[in-house]
Amino acid sequence: MSQSFHQTGGWIEVIAGVMFSGKSEELIRRVRRSIIAKKRIQVFKSHLDARYAGIYAISSHDGRTVNAIPADSAAQIAQQIDPMAQVVAIDEAQFLDNGIIPLVTSLASRGRRVILAGTDTDFRGEPFGPMPSLMAIAEVVDKLHAICVLCGGPASRNQRLIGGQPAPYDSPTIMVGGTESYEARCRMCFSMPPKDPGQASLL
Ligand code: ADP
Ligand code: ZN
Repeated sequence: MSQSFHQTGGWIEVIAGVMFSGKSEELIRRVRRSIIAKKRIQVFKSHLDARYAGIYAISSHDGRTVNAIPADSAAQIAQQIDPMAQVVAIDEAQFLDNGIIPLVTSLASRGRRVILAGTDTDFRGEPFGPMPSLMAIAEVVDKLHAICVLCGGPASRNQRLIGGQPAPYDSPTIMVGGTESYEARCRMCFSMPPKDPGQASLL
């Protein structure tokens, strides 16, 4: 797939989908193959806490490794870009600000291959952060699915549970230090209590 863009300079690839759909696995697969191709590569990951720092390292069979650089904003990525990097990979792109859109556009127009992975919908099933725009400007978009934990079908929703119960619509998009958990679910098995219980009768 990516071979076809080699003559045209840079391009943008987006790996989108729900949690547990294998976006990170796919990103790592592409990064590993770029390492095998002896490309100069940088990997960024937003919301990279200390627990991940040692784990999120990608190595090839010939022993070359790439560590993910933590970055919580597009500006932090821009500051740390290696001008010689041929491939720039960014995981958890949904948490970044809209500054990521001009940044990856600029990188691609200067000949870089940019690979972004991110959750395309939030716990409400609505577009998440810069993901819709990134999917629109990308040359290539892959939308992955997880397995619905209730029915075993293809899952396209992130079910947020608080205390084992479906989270209401008005809980924050990004919960900091929360005790919530997530399940991959399909559209039919997804449950979203309305913000105002009275709204349910409008549908
Ligand atoms: P993502 O980056 O999309 O959150 P990861 O690449 O981190 O996904 O993890 C994908 C892995 O999650 C799968 O290979 C599988 O082992 C595991 N997994 C756990 N729950 C599920 C599920 N409901 N559907 C699919 N894979 C799941
Ligand atoms: Zn289901």
